[in-house]
Amino acid sequence: MDDLDDDDLLRYSRHILLEEFGIDGQARVSAAHALLVGAGGLGSPAALYLAAAGVGRLTLVDDDTVDLTNLQRQIAHTHARVGAPKVASAAQAMREINPQLDVRTVQARAEGALLARLVADADVVLDCSDNFRTRQAVNAACVAHARPLVAGAAIRFDGQISVYDLRDAASPCYACLFPPDAQFEETRCAVLGVFAPVVGTIGVLQAHEALKLLAGMGGGLTGRLLMFDGRASRFDSVGVARDPHCRVCGHRPAA
Ligand SMILES: [Zn+2]
Repeated sequence: MDDLDDDDLLRYSRHILLEEFGIDGQARVSAAHALLVGAGGLGSPAALYLAAAGVGRLTLVDDDTVDLTNLQRQIAHTHARVGAPKVASAAQAMREINPQLDVRTVQARAEGALLARLVADADVVLDCSDNFRTRQAVNAACVAHARPLVAGAAIRFDGQISVYDLRDAASPCYACLFPPDAQFEETRCAVLGVFAPVVGTIGVLQAHEALKLLAGMGGGLTGRLLMFDGRASRFDSVGVARDPHCRVCGHRPAA
C-alpha cells in the first residue's frame, strides 16, 4: 500500500489534518515496514495502534500461544483464541481493524539468523519482549543493521521506554545503558505481577514513537529514558548517553 486512495484519505483523515504529520507523513507510514518482537502485553497495544494508523507492512514475531493468564492485559487476544499462536491471534485483530495491511507472522523465538533477516528488512523495530536475552539480541541486530529501535518494558506498576536510533551517531544503543554482561535480576510478570494499564501505557507510547520515526517527524525519545511510575501516575525522564566503550556499539563512528 504505497499510494493513498480515496478510502485511505477518509480512513486517515484525522492524521492528514495534522500539520506536522499530514499527507506526506501518512504516505511514508503507509509505505513502511515495522517489526514487532513480542505479541504480549506491550506488543498488543503497539500492534493494534500501528495497524489502525496504517503502517503498510507489519511483521509479528513471537513463539508463544495465548493463555488465560494473558487476557488481563494482552488486549489483542480474546477468550475464544486461548491456545492459538499469539502472532496469529494478534494478526487477526489487526486485520479486523485494517484489512488492507500486509500483516506477516513468524511463530518463533526472535534470535539468530532469523532475527537478523527480519531486522534488516524493517524500517523500525519495536522490542515488546519480556526477557533480557531477547532484548540484547534485538539490540545487537539493530546496531548491526543501523535500524531505529523502540524498546519498552513494564513490570508491577513501573514502565520505561526509550528510542535507540542507530542512524544517529550520538544515540546510545540499549546495551550502552544495560550492558549484556551485567547481572540483572530477570523480573517476570508471572512472578511479580503487572498492572494491566501499565503495559498499555508503554505499548501505546512505543507505537507513538515508531509512527513519528516512520513519518520522519523526529523529536522523540532518542537519548532519553522515559519512566512511568504507575503508583503515583508520574512520568520522569533522564538523559542517556552513548558509551564509547560499549561492547555492542563501541565500533560505530563517533558523533
Ligand atoms: Zn551501545
